[in-house]
Amino acid sequence: AKENGRNSYQLYTAAMNAASFEHLAMEANLREAIKNGQFTLHYQPKIDAASSRITGAEALIRWQHPKLGYVAPSLFIPLAEDLGIINDLGDWVLGSTIGQCRNWIREGMDDFRIAVNVSANQLQPGFNERLLNMLKEAEVEPRYLELELTESAVMKRSEDVVPMLTALKHRGIHISIDDFGTGYSNFGYLKRLPINKLKIDLSFIRDIPASQDDAELVSAMIAMAHKLSLTVVAEGVETAGQVAFLQQQNCDELQGYFFAHPLPAHEIQPLLQAGICQ
Ligand code: C2E
Ligand code: CA
Ligand code: CA
Ligand code: CA
Repeated sequence: AKENGRNSYQLYTAAMNAASFEHLAMEANLREAIKNGQFTLHYQPKIDAASSRITGAEALIRWQHPKLGYVAPSLFIPLAEDLGIINDLGDWVLGSTIGQCRNWIREGMDDFRIAVNVSANQLQPGFNERLLNMLKEAEVEPRYLELELTESAVMKRSEDVVPMLTALKHRGIHISIDDFGTGYSNFGYLKRLPINKLKIDLSFIRDIPASQDDAELVSAMIAMAHKLSLTVVAEGVETAGQVAFLQQQNCDELQGYFFAHPLPAHEIQPLLQAGICQ
């Protein structure tokens, strides 16, 4: 038994070393990626459900590593959060998005809003100041920007986070709850949050209208959001059936492959200018 214990201890440390080695390698990779311009942003349109006009887009980060190839954000964002790199990465995303907004405004575009995903760890003291400074320096009004945060990001440290978001919302930045429905099931707290929008998680959208359970859930979420004077967005919309159902339920905005995939800036620009998806 003693022998076994020692062997498993050695195995354990070997595995741990491999894991920390990978973490170290990934940390170096991520830091290099920011410096070497390996990150880009793609933009996925959001559609006004009633008029089918584009209201704006969501910025989604893309990482093309020279050796690893495309690395999905679902893989490296959690790692960047663990490694404490998310602040630098998050600032890069905000800076790039705001820079892109400035370019589009200079092209004469006006009626759009770009959403950025923000991790819980980014909401530290100094975040508001940095963000408002970036907007000021780029001469981009706050109304062009929206922040998407998950329920857990807001609820985990709500005493700190709520005042920060309240201040940003007062400046005209829109605040969205992302992946809505996957976290806290008690809707009571929503009334107290400084938010404009709920984004219903794509897992609820996938099987509508065929799944009666999901159809009822989605219609209840939309009705509840409207009672709270919040705008509702459905993400992951892929079929005409989903569109029809969501329109019938008065969902405000739609987003998903049915309308457009996330696109590089030069490909979404003509869509934003035209106000429609092709
Ligand atoms: P999310 O914010 O919930 O974004 C929605 C994800 O669904 C995106 O995946 C998007 O490409 C994908 N999607 C869009 N339309 C459809 C559809 O019709 N069907 C399906 N099945 N999927 C669709 P992506 O780009 O791989 O991003 C995954 C997650 O990574 C995001 O989920 C977000 O949590 C995170 N993420 C992406 N960019 C950033 C970023 O700049 N900062 C932070 N903190 N997180 C980011
Ligand atoms: Ca999002
Ligand atoms: Ca989402
Ligand atoms: Ca998500």
